[in-house]
Amino acid sequence: MNFFFDFERSELARAFDPPFRATQLYKSVYQRWLDNFELMTDIPRELRTSLAEQWNIQLPPVHRRFDSIDGTRRYLVRLEDGELAETVFIPESNRNTICISSQVGCALACTFCLTGQLGLTRNLTAGEILTQAMVAQRDNLSWDERDSFNIVMMGMGEPLHNYDNVMKSLRILHDEEGLNMSMSRITLSTAGMLPALERLAVEPLIPNLAISLTGATNTKRDTLMPINRKYPIEQLVDAVRRFPVKHRQRVTFEYVLMKGITDSPQDAHSLARLLRGLPAKVNLIPLNEAEELGYARPSDESVDRFRQILLDHRIDTFVRKNRGNDISAACGQLKKKWADTEIIPLR
Ligand code: SAH
Repeated sequence: MNFFFDFERSELARAFDPPFRATQLYKSVYQRWLDNFELMTDIPRELRTSLAEQWNIQLPPVHRRFDSIDGTRRYLVRLEDGELAETVFIPESNRNTICISSQVGCALACTFCLTGQLGLTRNLTAGEILTQAMVAQRDNLSWDERDSFNIVMMGMGEPLHNYDNVMKSLRILHDEEGLNMSMSRITLSTAGMLPALERLAVEPLIPNLAISLTGATNTKRDTLMPINRKYPIEQLVDAVRRFPVKHRQRVTFEYVLMKGITDSPQDAHSLARLLRGLPAKVNLIPLNEAEELGYARPSDESVDRFRQILLDHRIDTFVRKNRGNDISAACGQLKKKWADTEIIPLR
């Protein structure tokens, strides 16, 4: 059985005669939300039967859903081989955000991230990446609101470590006969895989970029994010400077604030120095604490003090609100909790 969502329309067009069947199928599955070939009355009956034998057009089932008191919902989406992909739906008044995973686990081992403690189990396929967004979309948004969401690739995994599948998922999400998503609605967050970042810079489709910095000097970042030993911080910032202008201007730098580790005024000054001359936006993320992590969240006062220093350097700085903490849906907390419980069907 082929997983329909793993295929670009151009690939399907090569597989079908006549090729326009690919467009018909895309429209039916992505735009009309059909999950049964029998409902596709624009396709000849015999073909519907043979398609049903070869193509799986069902979204993956939700293994478990966790609802936060603030409206945030975390999903464990069950994949073909029993692995789980974590997805988070974050409702907001003007726009909803769906946070999706690109890998099961992660190889980067950042010391303040729970996913980092798991190690990497496997890459997700393009279809496994994009159907997470569809599962969350259909569970939360009515037909009329169906396009009122943005996607952030900030769940489990390092998207640029699974480059080909992530890029393919973007092309499918972007397809005008599919979800028709503009790249301005999608943000890819990376810990700074340099060669892949340079590849991304010359792609025809480029999403918004977020760079996870956290340490503002090599000494600090080397210990917190081991990937820095391979791709040091100046090289990373230089790569951002070389990024195509339209996208570079809107690059977000994420910086996790940890008490006594990354939250001092001196750290703020180092960060301001590092970003000098870059039209950057900084997203401060006060640490989401977890027992397994040996770090603490700073006080609100030191968060404000840190932010003020950046603002004094005329750097746009925002503090990320902590959402879904009661259900372990917050940044860096995804770690397959309660993975072994029963399956709850979505509809
Ligand atoms: N690998 C990618 C995407 C996943 S991590 C990346 O590094 O960008 C998404 C964001 O969560 C990153 O900015 C990371 O720094 C942040 N994060 C990880 N653990 C966290 C924690 N315990 N508290 C707050 N933010 C965390």
